[in-house]
Amino acid sequence: MCGIVGYIGKKEALPFLLEGLKKVEYRGYDSSGLVVLKEKAKCVKAAGKLEKLEEKTKKETIKGNFGIGHSRWSTHGPPTTKNAHPHSDCKNNIFVVHNGIIENYKEIKEELEKKGHNFLSQTDTEVLSHLMEDFFQGNLEEAVIKALGKVRGTYALAAVALQDPGKIVAGRMFSPLAISVNKEGGFVTSDPAAIVSYSKKMIFLEDGDVAVIKGEDFFIKNLKNKLKEREETKIDWDTEEAQKGGEPYFMLKEIKEQPESVANSFRGRLIEEEGTAKLGGIESVEKKLRKIEKIRIISCGTSYYAGLIGKYMLEDYAGIPTEVDLGSEFYLPKIDKKTAFLFISQSGETADTLSALKEVKNKGGLSLGIVNAVGSSIARETDAGIYNHAGPEIGVASTKAFTSQVVVLSLLTLFLGRQRDMDIDTGKKFAKEIKSLPFLIGKILENMEGVSKLAKKYKSYPNFLYLGRRYNYPVAMEGALKLKEISYIHAEGNAGGEIKHGPLALIDKDFPVFAICLSDGVYGKMISGIHEIKARGGKVIALATQGNKEIEKIASDTIFIPKEVKILSPVLAVIPLQIFAYYVAVFLKKDPDKPRNLAKSVTVE
Ligand code: GLU
Repeated sequence: MCGIVGYIGKKEALPFLLEGLKKVEYRGYDSSGLVVLKEKAKCVKAAGKLEKLEEKTKKETIKGNFGIGHSRWSTHGPPTTKNAHPHSDCKNNIFVVHNGIIENYKEIKEELEKKGHNFLSQTDTEVLSHLMEDFFQGNLEEAVIKALGKVRGTYALAAVALQDPGKIVAGRMFSPLAISVNKEGGFVTSDPAAIVSYSKKMIFLEDGDVAVIKGEDFFIKNLKNKLKEREETKIDWDTEEAQKGGEPYFMLKEIKEQPESVANSFRGRLIEEEGTAKLGGIESVEKKLRKIEKIRIISCGTSYYAGLIGKYMLEDYAGIPTEVDLGSEFYLPKIDKKTAFLFISQSGETADTLSALKEVKNKGGLSLGIVNAVGSSIARETDAGIYNHAGPEIGVASTKAFTSQVVVLSLLTLFLGRQRDMDIDTGKKFAKEIKSLPFLIGKILENMEGVSKLAKKYKSYPNFLYLGRRYNYPVAMEGALKLKEISYIHAEGNAGGEIKHGPLALIDKDFPVFAICLSDGVYGKMISGIHEIKARGGKVIALATQGNKEIEKIASDTIFIPKEVKILSPVLAVIPLQIFAYYVAVFLKKDPDKPRNLAKSVTVE
């Protein structure tokens, strides 16, 4: 999720590691660390910005020509110095940096503790160094391969060992990692941006690969210890583009990342055969949650719209009456002990949401969080919570955080529903839908070009109306918000049934309408609304379900989304709206990453 850099060669490793970490700094990490090896290992870590680490390194003599570094985006354990990577074994022999999540770390940790291993951090990562220690017999790659055979989850990792010097061992499973060797030495990185100025030829590891880099030499094995051949890729991006994974803007990169970020949000949390979800972060309040009779969701902006979708799910499938409040409008005249208060914020620092949380805490209410940034204020202050694990979001207009929030809300619904009346078959159906999302999002992303053509066609209209009903009413509002935020076009999101109560008066040939009319229980009513718009000369872009033959005859333009998903259709429906807003902004020559007057997380009330 965040950054790994490693160097082995003839030069000093420290300057390279610091420079590499600086290049991945744009990801907004929360702590960092590095280790350089010679006769001894010198490991330095710091919480906070990279300057903190740099300052610390200046106070020490750090010499050696191989080492690894890490910028952390915490998933397990707050961003403290102790939790920063590299993590080592009990003997300070093996050092590991890791991106991703080790899902079965608790079991492994318990086992290793019984064997006498001493853990120093709260991270999932630390089990890797101790597992490697357990298997280490003088050869690091053998220990790495054996250790990786025991872990479940996602990882990009790099390891070094004092007792097997002269090599960096790197491994990948569902998390990017590239290596490169040339006359300058051997490099490893999770982000080409870190090394592109040294080398333009990289080998992108595949899942299950373990690479051993020895300066100008390297080889790759799989987890079965078999040698593997991998092709080199020539990088033709510059450093800045490389930070965006070759995309021109973070927003586009994040839109495209959604199959992965959504998968990371439910990975290890779905128990399909039991039709339920396992949510470690709220286990401590499980009994209290059984007794709650109401939920109040508090959030702002995009997170507010995710919350509104959560309300439908929680009411329909968990049977719990749910209210959604804007953080800035929240008030609490009387506390009710049977209500749980759920705070949603990508950054975990949204001031309006945070101040509502303080009010709930003052009055003794049960508080829960859905937060992306681990260790942030809302994550720390709530009684329990669920992390998004969507990875850092840089684009000011939220995209992957939204889909992740809806997915996490669906996991919560599944969990609370199964605590109550939801039967196992419904639970299984629910779980199956959640699991199918990454693939289906991928299918929608294949039609980027189609959506961009529509953006070109409609970019000059000064006003837009977005319509949806029920689950997709919040999506209509989110679609309008995206367009407003980055293209400065006036857009309104409305409930499909409401247009005849007012907004219809606005409609003429210059006021296009984006109508989300999926083949669900509200389809017929949405179609009636569309006819009313058409009768007033309005243009309609319909977002419809694949296989709908009627819609193309009615709408001016149609975008289709896959039909496989029902409950979680908002996660699919929002994606074309994100893409549409993105391309409208780009065609209007606006920078979607830097919308005027807006900042990423709103930390003032
Ligand atoms: N899960 C690990 C941690 O919390 C790695 C996080 C990352 O990808 O930076 O430390």
